[in-house]
Amino acid sequence: TQKRFYSIPEQDKVAKFKGTKGNDGKFTVTLIEGDGIGPEISQSVKDIFAAANVPIKWEAVDVTPRLKDGRTVIPEEAIDSVTRNYVALKGPLATPVGKGHVSLNLTLRRTFNLFANVRPCKSIAGYKTPYDNVDTVLIRENTEGEYSGIEHVVVDGVVQSIKLITREASERVLRFAFQHADAVGKRKVRAVHKATIMKMSDGLFLNTARDVAKEFPHIEFDAELLDNTCLKIVTDPIPYNDKVLVMPNLYGDILSDMCAGLIGGLGLTPSGNIGDECSIFEAVHGSAPDIAGKGLANPTALLLSSIMMLQHMGLNEFADRIQNAIFAVLAEGKTITGDLGGKAKTSEYAEAVMKKL
Ligand code: NAD
Repeated sequence: TQKRFYSIPEQDKVAKFKGTKGNDGKFTVTLIEGDGIGPEISQSVKDIFAAANVPIKWEAVDVTPRLKDGRTVIPEEAIDSVTRNYVALKGPLATPVGKGHVSLNLTLRRTFNLFANVRPCKSIAGYKTPYDNVDTVLIRENTEGEYSGIEHVVVDGVVQSIKLITREASERVLRFAFQHADAVGKRKVRAVHKATIMKMSDGLFLNTARDVAKEFPHIEFDAELLDNTCLKIVTDPIPYNDKVLVMPNLYGDILSDMCAGLIGGLGLTPSGNIGDECSIFEAVHGSAPDIAGKGLANPTALLLSSIMMLQHMGLNEFADRIQNAIFAVLAEGKTITGDLGGKAKTSEYAEAVMKKL
């Protein structure tokens, strides 16, 4: 058994799963299949969950944006479903570049106040990468920063985009990072920032981090400049193994994809968007339009996200069983998808995982 990707201790009041089982003994979970490869990889999760007798029922919802009062909104049924179930598994959603509707991913994070994006970056035993034994966690502020979406044209040829940092949102994600460090047995929290340049905005994030650190005297706290982190982590990621890294929105988005490269690529990296009420679990990758509909996608990242979800829901026994089956198939290396150097179709890989359950 490999160490768990994610865990929240029972006594932890923050982001505790509030859902309850129905009369049939099952939890209902919202499923947003998503675009591109979303339906294919969601199918793998559904098949494997059914084979492992996981006590949940899926409530599939459509999040195709609708126009309401001149604004693009997520259908109310989808919002109601996540609100009712407290938890959702989500496939990737495509976002138009440079025009069109706002990112649905951002809208979901804002609607449910999913303030912390947890992205574990962990080597998978048996799957060879330049570095073995990488095991760090990135926590990204998920509601503001550079992704506040406040942009306007000042005059022709000049655009202003506002980076918003508040003490409240910073405090919330920083406190979560320390609690998460406790939950996953890390001894250190490191804030990643550029307060040398963005003295006020990143400065506020960093100063808030120093204040929150005082609430957790048993966890070591320090800070590092983002560019320095990038250089050091690709040179040698191992010194980051005892740490949880926490940072403003944009930095976390970029740094986590870079870290995904350290452990085998986007096909393997899961994430959880955690809020006080609801949480949405999704792969780090996007809709991969270049391979969509061809049965070539690697469902592992969404599967590992669904395992994080099971752990969040307290269904650890099922999480461990599925995780071990996935790792056994990857370590064997016989039935793996193209992104990992294999020839298996998405469904063949899923079948191999089911045989190992
Ligand atoms: P992407 O992550 O979709 O793809 C990048 C590369 O990785 C592609 O070559 C793709 O084939 C490959 N890849 C990604 N996931 C894979 C998997 N599971 N198996 C095998 N190969 C995989 O990034 P992109 O092409 O920049 O973005 C495509 C769309 O996805 C855009 O509309 C973007 O806005 C959206 N997106 C959504 C999310 C999300 O829903 N959270 C995240 C990132 C990007």
